[in-house]
Amino acid sequence: MEITEKLYYKDNRRIIFKAKIIEQYEDKNGWVVILDKTLFYPEGGGQPADRGWINEVKVNNVQKKNDIIMHYISKEIKTETVDGKIDWEHRFNYMQQHTGQHLISGAFWKVGKYKTVSVNMSIDYTTIEIETKSISDVELNKVEELANDMILENVPVNNIIINDNELSNYDLRRACLIKGDIRLVNLGDFDCVACGGIHLSFTGEVRLVKIIKTEKIRGNIRVYWKIGNRAFVDYSNKTRIVSKLKIALNSNEDDLDKKVDQLKNEIEDIKHSKKTLEKKIIEFYKEDLLRKFTGSVQHKESSADTTMPVLVASGDISAANAKNCAQFFSPGPQSFGRSSLPAGHAAEKVTSRLNWLGNDIESKVIIKKWINEDDQLVLNLVKSLIIEKNIILCMLNKTDKNIKWIIACSEDIDFNFNNIRDNLLKPFDCKGGGKHPIWQGVGNIKLDEEGFLNKFEKIVRKEKNTPGEIRTPNA
Ligand SMILES: [Zn+2]
Repeated sequence: MEITEKLYYKDNRRIIFKAKIIEQYEDKNGWVVILDKTLFYPEGGGQPADRGWINEVKVNNVQKKNDIIMHYISKEIKTETVDGKIDWEHRFNYMQQHTGQHLISGAFWKVGKYKTVSVNMSIDYTTIEIETKSISDVELNKVEELANDMILENVPVNNIIINDNELSNYDLRRACLIKGDIRLVNLGDFDCVACGGIHLSFTGEVRLVKIIKTEKIRGNIRVYWKIGNRAFVDYSNKTRIVSKLKIALNSNEDDLDKKVDQLKNEIEDIKHSKKTLEKKIIEFYKEDLLRKFTGSVQHKESSADTTMPVLVASGDISAANAKNCAQFFSPGPQSFGRSSLPAGHAAEKVTSRLNWLGNDIESKVIIKKWINEDDQLVLNLVKSLIIEKNIILCMLNKTDKNIKWIIACSEDIDFNFNNIRDNLLKPFDCKGGGKHPIWQGVGNIKLDEEGFLNKFEKIVRKEKNTPGEIRTPNA
């Protein structure tokens, strides 16, 4: 097959053309059209393929194979000759990216003999990877300045074809190993390399290059650039953002960074205060919850055959405590029913040995419901509580969105939530899980909270064979 005539090399500003169809076939990627000549630049050298239309059928991709150019389109073309049109905005964008990349790579070479090892032109950025482990900000600024100076010089971008035996006459930035005809691109006498890409006619058309950021990759440095019209769009966006920040932070432009530092420090101080306060709240609540077992609680030392004291909550929270709690948690959790065990009665009952999943231990059961409490605070309270021995607990936190449940136990309790999981969660349509010693999840906003807590207590008591009802009153 005869090679496709490359119109894009002849006139980089031409948009429309007429051509004859040489071949047309369908493959797995759609219809492929091969023309006798084309303006469509095929993907290559880091530059994406042109977009556009052939007889108003969209061209999705353009590839080159052995100097034959294949246009990928979505449907068959029925005519022998076609009208082609390239997407000029797309073409000009990538001519800017590509020519700008030549300028920048040339500047990297001039500033510090930095070799360009790879280039990527994406939708947002053009990246240039240079062969070095590090580069200073001073050098980066020099590269940007030099490339922009060359834009101001507006030197012609020349494409010339030479033979490989003429290569020694040219001062190439990058060695060329191609044999036969070689296409050279030079930007005045600033930079010269072999390149098959498609370029602007003058460096001034690049308009502007701007460094955005750098990163380390493969032991090299990759530099992100905004080139051409993209750099102006980027400038507009940044101006808009800065204007918003100036209003939000009530600051002028030059003081924005100081203002942000100041805010960051303030946030750190607030975080520290919050942490201290949370710690106090958790201590307060922990003490209060445990007081139910030790304060007005029936308390009896175990007899010789039991291993530890047994504690049963029987008193209600004091009015003073309730007031204190309300200061921290508003609106306060609702009270549930509670049975007070008369003195002596409780003492008698609590001397019973408990058998909890084979462990001969006795536990304090804590049941609590919160309303609109901070989930993290509840979780931290739970963590603080289970540091103590022999605690098993279930807490609910109801917010406007959902209800979260937490079940936990002290490390020394061999409690396996999975044994009661289905029995407890399924009837209440709750989800969640975890691992010893904390399990948590969410329930529907319409969850019967009291029913859930009662069921947990019932299951635990049954399993544990614990006598009586132990209920921590809710503040
Ligand atoms: Zn090029």
